[in-house]
Amino acid sequence: MPTIADNLQHVYQQIHAAAKLACRNPEGIHLLAVSKAHPASAIRECYKAGQRHFGENYLQEALLKQEALADLTDLCWHFIGPLQTNKTRKVAEQFDWVHSIDRQRIAERLSEQRPANCEPLNVCIQVNLQDEDSKSGVALQDVAPLAKSIMALPNLKLRGLMAIPVKSDDYAVQLGSFTQVAKLMRELQSSTQLATLDTLSMGMSNDLQAAIAAGATIVRVGTGIFGPRQPQT
Ligand SMILES: *Cc1c(COP(=O)(O)O)cnc(C)c1O
Repeated sequence: MPTIADNLQHVYQQIHAAAKLACRNPEGIHLLAVSKAHPASAIRECYKAGQRHFGENYLQEALLKQEALADLTDLCWHFIGPLQTNKTRKVAEQFDWVHSIDRQRIAERLSEQRPANCEPLNVCIQVNLQDEDSKSGVALQDVAPLAKSIMALPNLKLRGLMAIPVKSDDYAVQLGSFTQVAKLMRELQSSTQLATLDTLSMGMSNDLQAAIAAGATIVRVGTGIFGPRQPQT
């Protein structure tokens, strides 16, 4: 059985290989280890192997693990799941990043509730490419107006876009989706002239090559590092 450290090395190699194919500097691509449904002990093991950035989807689960790992002071926590208004306070207090901003109300609350002694919260707008009712995220045409209102919020730092395209094993389909997000990002960069807009959070275990080819700067990998998850109950 490969260890978490072995898996992590393997994912780093995948990132390097994909960067090379895309003629990109691998240093511009950051790995977010998605630890949902895996215990704090697995995060600790991954930390020992050198990983510092971890992504969680469910607040209560994340808070328990953060408590268990409080001795690791240089962990960086990213919230990547759907966010309800009644959960924003804890997220504003306990996380460094939120990738899943999908409406203004959530952004306003996160800014209001961000503790004064903390750096601004790094946020990405989650883009909904397919416009399916089942997936969260903002429709393409609504991204620019939401970005404008986030830029006015004092305690948020708008970093970029996040996307979870519909799962496909076809590289061309994956690349097509990610390329759309990258195009939207360039439009946003030129319309806002915002210097902090440097993040494209896209690509997971089975599509990180295509995401990197399209310009991902953060890939979010769970299964490839921690192994399969138990189905959520
Ligand atoms: C679970 C999850 C991931 C990781 O998915 P894997 O296929 O296990 O790599 C990435 N991003 C988000 C938003 C997730 O919910």
